[in-house]
Amino acid sequence: MKIAMVGTGYVGLVSGACFADFGHHVTCVDTDEVKIERLSRGQIPIYEPGLDVLVAGNVAVGRLAFTTDLAAAVRGADAVFIAVGTPSRRGDGHADLSYVTAAAEAIAACAEEPLLLVTKSTVPVGTGDEIEAIVHRVRPDLDFDVASNPEFLREGSAIDDFKRPDRVVIGAESERAREVMRLLYRPLFLNETPIVFTSRRTAELTKYAANAFLATKVAFINEIADICERTGANVQDVARGIGLDRRIGGKFLHAGPGFGGSCFPKDTLALVRTADEAGVPTRIVTAVIESNTARKKGLADRIIEACGGSVAGCRLAVLGLSFKPNTDDMRDAPSIDIVETLTRAGAQVAVYDPVAMPEARKLPEFRRAVWTGGSYQAIEGASALVIVTEWDEFRALDLDEVRRLMARPLVIDLRNIYTPEEMLRSGLGYVSIGRPPVP
Ligand code: NAD
Repeated sequence: MKIAMVGTGYVGLVSGACFADFGHHVTCVDTDEVKIERLSRGQIPIYEPGLDVLVAGNVAVGRLAFTTDLAAAVRGADAVFIAVGTPSRRGDGHADLSYVTAAAEAIAACAEEPLLLVTKSTVPVGTGDEIEAIVHRVRPDLDFDVASNPEFLREGSAIDDFKRPDRVVIGAESERAREVMRLLYRPLFLNETPIVFTSRRTAELTKYAANAFLATKVAFINEIADICERTGANVQDVARGIGLDRRIGGKFLHAGPGFGGSCFPKDTLALVRTADEAGVPTRIVTAVIESNTARKKGLADRIIEACGGSVAGCRLAVLGLSFKPNTDDMRDAPSIDIVETLTRAGAQVAVYDPVAMPEARKLPEFRRAVWTGGSYQAIEGASALVIVTEWDEFRALDLDEVRRLMARPLVIDLRNIYTPEEMLRSGLGYVSIGRPPVP
């Protein structure tokens, strides 16, 4: 099969490379000339484990190509995917569909018959209808279908998620569209991956429901962590105690600094807007957003409190900037609020992240950060070490060396990657999330 993937970001590039690895011929298109030029030279513009090898292998056998020429990519394609961004619209939190509608118009203008246009971007329920209207307006006589195929991959494990998903959701209104989608996902059918065929609107809403539910789990366990802190209970034990119940499940029950990233914050907001427009109250999702926002805003204050009420003139080390490990994605990362507030409170904030520093450098909140070349360099002379993202390399720090390097031995572990006992043994003061200090 021949596929055009329009939008070559975290989702488009991974999906394109994985479809090519399934044996299809994929052309990834982007309007960003620099990105396409780099990809054409074999450079991967994002950090995603395994992606470089996957892309190189499929380019080498002629199944994967990159271009800015949309018409060339769309020519003869069995399916054209839209995988452009749908960020929050400034001001109202609605999904900004301008990239999606621009892509749909451009695709319609150069499409051949029959066109199957598939939305992989996360789009509000009903967007497929809008895309249908756009294509019809641009090419009134074109024979086409519009399907929805939301993507559930996670950055950091994106390739495995795409190739071995828990399920694939396909929303289509015609048997012809379903048949093409079946052929595209044939390797997964053979693996007996559940493929959930739904209406287009149902597929669109399923993606938001999934993200809102996961965000709810995170916000919920964070509130339980707060209760643990006040009552002497241990949130990790609570999470295990509830997570072993199969109706609840153990995933997404890690207390921490609050959810961030390129999806949960914007998708929960967009779902609330959709519900508002439909006249449906969404008390749960609204509360999740409020709870998470308050948590992220309050974290820096907690850090300041742990430092004795003031950080003015102190050097603080922040390890981990990306919103989660194994990605360079800085969109809505909890580190942003933390670094900004600590800097405003007068601290000198020394930061280190294994891959996200080039992205972080682009953000105004990091203007006054001190950029360091490694964990120990960041820690040297610091009055507190704050672990914000649980990269593996932060899990095995030499704690004796940490104590020796620090001006004051205090570790604030927002991911609970150490235990209070080992910190006590190493002579380090320790503040973690939702766990009682060692008596
Ligand atoms: P991204 O910002 O990394 O990539 C979007 C790409 O689209 C950019 O390279 C941009 O230049 C390109 N683009 C914009 N307009 C274009 C056009 N008209 N023609 C061609 N290219 C165009 O975004 P992303 O993180 O890959 O997310 C894409 C969509 O997938 C979003 O709707 C997002 O919500 C959804 N999603 C993301 C993830 C994730 O983990 N990042 C997971 C699941 C779903």
